[in-house]
Amino acid sequence: MTPFRKQYLELLKQLVAIPSVSAKREHLPETAKILGQALANLGGQVEIDDRYFAPLVIAHFDSPNPEAKNLVIYNHYDVQPAEPFDLWDSDPWTLTEKDGHLIGRGVDDDKGNITARLTALAEYLDEHQDQLPVNITFIIEGSEESASQHLDDYFNRHPEIEADLVIWESGAKDAHDRIQLVGGTKGIVTFDISSKTAAADLHSSLATVVNSAAWRLSQGLATLFDQEGRIQVPHFYDEVQEPNQREKDLIAQLPIEREAFIREYEVESPLLTDLRGDDWKQALYFEPSLSIEGISSGYEGPGVKTVLPAQASAKLEARLVPGMDPDVTLQRIKDYLEAQGFEDLEVTKTLGQGGYRSDMSDPAIQQIIDTASNFYPGQPVVSPTSAGTGPMNYAYQALGAPIVGFGVGYPDTYDHAPNENIRLVDYYENIDFTKAVIASFANQPVKPRKESAVAR
Ligand SMILES: [Zn+2]
Repeated sequence: MTPFRKQYLELLKQLVAIPSVSAKREHLPETAKILGQALANLGGQVEIDDRYFAPLVIAHFDSPNPEAKNLVIYNHYDVQPAEPFDLWDSDPWTLTEKDGHLIGRGVDDDKGNITARLTALAEYLDEHQDQLPVNITFIIEGSEESASQHLDDYFNRHPEIEADLVIWESGAKDAHDRIQLVGGTKGIVTFDISSKTAAADLHSSLATVVNSAAWRLSQGLATLFDQEGRIQVPHFYDEVQEPNQREKDLIAQLPIEREAFIREYEVESPLLTDLRGDDWKQALYFEPSLSIEGISSGYEGPGVKTVLPAQASAKLEARLVPGMDPDVTLQRIKDYLEAQGFEDLEVTKTLGQGGYRSDMSDPAIQQIIDTASNFYPGQPVVSPTSAGTGPMNYAYQALGAPIVGFGVGYPDTYDHAPNENIRLVDYYENIDFTKAVIASFANQPVKPRKESAVAR
């Protein structure tokens, strides 16, 4: 192992030991400080923007070439809560090495990706007399797991940041050990719907006369979704950006099969797409969803309690595809509930962000696809979007550059779940691939630099 690999594995150990859980707002400034220090030690011009509860860490590494392109590398240092602790085989806050795996909360999402990239940069600088062929800006935020609450504001305050390409936070190998390059994320709007039918819970003998909040809420919710999973809200799908043929082909080629998908998740009900006669893979990536995350009301303990619930509430989310606006979508849901006679239900927005898909035939992305094709023995799997959500859209709106993600994960990485882990072999390979990506900017045809980014 090179000294740099050892040094940054030590940093990963240190980072995993800090429970930087953005949902709890814990240990965020101290994690930002450690990263700022690590980037400064590498020779970066570092800024820690601590106007936010989760400070952003920015570091610039300049190429001596005045015409060098600009690469932005985006990561996040916050993690999901580690609960339930008893489902972990080792302490989530201790980086544990076992059978060629590294285990710990954040080891994939996203601290391991950060240290792999720092290792790649350190080795590249060391092997090339500190001469980068591309200007690199790291943007490392601390509230990604809480809908990137500061990222939009940060970009608005920093119109001077330029990018020809953005490398996204993470990614994983597929089940056939092929690197996946992903160019998009869905958006999301999350919200609560609640009902209140009396000042306090009542004796349930009154149920012939007094409505229960539990009925009221479930009747309202039931209007939103039909039994085959079609969202009933008028105009919900109006702005959905239809995938082009290349995007459809890329998704059709993804090596995931329907039967394997059903087996992997032990799905016990028919697929909604089967009920509707739709293509499940295209729907998974290109269609929005509307789902209930949780419902609570009344008595849920052991035995019987004959009570009439006065309050009921549900948490919901809509996963959005490019073209859809979180606030417009939520307003349509509100309007529809009202039109259906549920004006008494209270709808409260919690979080929202838009979705984004890169044009995977953009030359800047093609450069990464080519680098991956040359580096890996098999062809990379190119996907125009993931089915998950992330703040890519903020970065695209601000930087106007195509975005592609790849990372240190594999199919059993268990992001957000107990026993989050990566394989050491992928970790080291990712370091070498990232070095190849940096090197791919050397001997590039130079294109004229953009005019001042302030004009954006
Ligand atoms: Zn995550």
